[in-house]
Amino acid sequence: MRAYLPSYELISPARLQDALDVLGKEPGVWRPFAGGTDLMVLLEAGKLPHKNYLNIWNLKELRGVEVTDQHVTLGALTTYTEVQQEKVLQQAFPMLCRAASETGGLAIQNRGTLGGNIVNASPAADSPPALLAYDAELELVSLEGARWVAYHRFHTGYKEMIIRPEELLTRIRLPRRTEKLRHYYRKVGTRKAQAISKVCFAGTARVRNETIEDLRVALGSVAPVPLRCVKTEDALRGSELTQTTIDRARAVMADEIVPIDDIRSTSNYRHQVSLNLLADFLQQLRA
Ligand SMILES: Cc1cc2nc3c(=O)[nH]c(=O)nc-3n(C[C@H](O)[C@H](O)[C@H](O)COP(=O)(O)OP(=O)(O)OC[C@H]3O[C@@H](n4cnc5c(N)ncnc54)[C@H](O)[C@@H]3O)c2cc1C
Repeated sequence: MRAYLPSYELISPARLQDALDVLGKEPGVWRPFAGGTDLMVLLEAGKLPHKNYLNIWNLKELRGVEVTDQHVTLGALTTYTEVQQEKVLQQAFPMLCRAASETGGLAIQNRGTLGGNIVNASPAADSPPALLAYDAELELVSLEGARWVAYHRFHTGYKEMIIRPEELLTRIRLPRRTEKLRHYYRKVGTRKAQAISKVCFAGTARVRNETIEDLRVALGSVAPVPLRCVKTEDALRGSELTQTTIDRARAVMADEIVPIDDIRSTSNYRHQVSLNLLADFLQQLRA
């Protein structure tokens, strides 16, 4: 059943300071509304219990891309279309562009934002594994000031996060790495387009003389939160790329992930696919 629209309120501040004033004066009363691609689905289905929204779409402070030698910093309102068009992201952070290109269809890509994807906190979302593998950091801002937090510390449980009701996610910062990295991203879903992931895998690695000097592995849909597989990484770092290493890494990952059964897939399938993707990633590093 559709929601009864007059019972909702949406206000549209023109500046970040005005938005923070609203959030700070009545913490928890107003919730951010960015592209609305997650919120509108709930509204249409009559499943949006919260009634007061703060439209942040017009806040210029949450837009744009800043590039320095150390970082690429994206406004939280950066859309998937903008991610795909950004040259520096194509070169240095290709998995983020790939995730953006495989998120929804064109309409969703024009309107859905990276910030919304992060704070919506679905464990099946497609950009979080890439953001985790790239060691992203988030800027959270309130009237009290700004704080930067490591993205891998942001999600604390299913749909639970460290962001406070009076804070906005304003920017996403990606550290630029100078060394040559290999990148591996796979979204496994029912179809190639317009499908929510069954499993989503992002990995980066630095390999020299057939030895893994460093790597990062992150997965979606295998835990209550987007998961950085630290134990699997630790087991692989410094190892030679042999079949024995690959088998050992699969065993470590099998213990580290805890996928569930739901309407999109089964725990067993997600387990198998995750281990196969890890093996494929490592095989490709060998090649
Ligand atoms: C048809 C369809 C297909 C989709 N396909 C995919 C897909 O393939 N992969 C995928 O990952 N997602 C998909 N989605 C989900 C959705 O498009 C994304 O999660 C999108 O990035 C959400 O961004 P938004 O700006 O629209 O968020 P909104 O709907 O505006 O907000 C989502 C949540 O985030 C909060 N929020 C938003 N911005 C901020 C901020 N700056 N600070 C604090 N809180 C904030 C809001 O309060 C709300 O709780 C799909 C959705 C639809 C309708």
